[in-house]
Amino acid sequence: MTKEQLTSKSVQLCLDFANTLDWHASEHPIETIHSYADLAGWARGAGLLNERTAQQLRRAAARQASEADAVLTQARTLREAIYEILVASAHRKTPRSADVATFNTILSDYLARSQLVRNSEGFAWEWGGSEDALDQMLWGVARSAADLLTSPELQRVGQCADDRGCGYLFLDTSKNHTRQWCSMRGCGNRAKAKRHCEKVKNEE
Ligand SMILES: [Zn+2]
Repeated sequence: MTKEQLTSKSVQLCLDFANTLDWHASEHPIETIHSYADLAGWARGAGLLNERTAQQLRRAAARQASEADAVLTQARTLREAIYEILVASAHRKTPRSADVATFNTILSDYLARSQLVRNSEGFAWEWGGSEDALDQMLWGVARSAADLLTSPELQRVGQCADDRGCGYLFLDTSKNHTRQWCSMRGCGNRAKAKRHCEKVKNEE
């Protein structure tokens, strides 16, 4: 993988996490992370946890229900702060200072538990907190968002233009920055069909 691809992969992570609330911009968003086990499952799929750690954390969470609930709440707070900041950015608006402050509070907690570890190319950031910390996957999400917010790729963050409130965030990698939809098969297809209907109606 080139350095550029690595960067894209790392910044994509926070977008994927922000998109774990479906219909995010609508009046009735649909939650996809209902429990700590869901959060650990998402993190496992995103490559933030290996299978062994994910299982250990799920077991630990079952024993410490209130701590696990607190992590779930923290995850959602972090997600909403990231989402709101990125939506503002996608529309070239100034994010709310309350969202930036929330993000910074969570970020500084994770930065305090980060460390640099030598690898073949130099150094890399790694989790430096306790091995059994239930919130360790959020460290990777916070770091991904911090990377995106400080990278030129921030200019490429877009939001699905669907008018029902799809709200999906993406990194627009199209040459002329013209991507409008979460997917051409989903909202893009619906918009095309709607335009077609309106055209036919107007012609009648
Ligand atoms: Zn969409």
